[in-house]
Amino acid sequence: MKLILKELKNGINHLSFKTEGVDLDIKPEEIDFSSEVKMKFSVLKVGNSFNCQGEIKARLKLECARCLTEYVQPVISKIEFILEMDDEKVGMDTQDDDYQFIAKETISYDLNPRVRETMILTLPIKPLCQEDCKGLCQFCGTNLNEKTCSCSKEMVDPRWNKLKELLS
Ligand SMILES: [Zn+2]
Ligand SMILES: [Zn+2]
Repeated sequence: MKLILKELKNGINHLSFKTEGVDLDIKPEEIDFSSEVKMKFSVLKVGNSFNCQGEIKARLKLECARCLTEYVQPVISKIEFILEMDDEKVGMDTQDDDYQFIAKETISYDLNPRVRETMILTLPIKPLCQEDCKGLCQFCGTNLNEKTCSCSKEMVDPRWNKLKELLS
């Protein structure tokens, strides 16, 4: 997905994109999108500088860390960066990832690396299908969100006691 800098006019430009994960160079093993990814960008062009602000809307297919069920979570992430056309400073380290110098003749700017990075940061560290997910019974594996099982915390499965004896 590219930002066509050549087509932007001075002042504010509103752009919107719809794309699939594969077109963003994101593999399904990294992030599994359950539907297309929608992006809105507003680019403020002032001379040789482009102030880009975007919003990415996506639906992520995740696996609950507690009950291991697959679920879909809608997310919105923000992206913001500035591009400045300056041939003498291209490749210069600005100490700021969100400020980048590009060559004056640049026609288009590849958004994929930034979108990919933003989306990876959006991934929850511990995904939960619901905040109070009850998880799986540690004894029989029943999904406790769906039904209750007859195991209880007090009544430990006798097989575990056997195992404990063997281990001690
Ligand atoms: Zn869950
Ligand atoms: Zn159980």
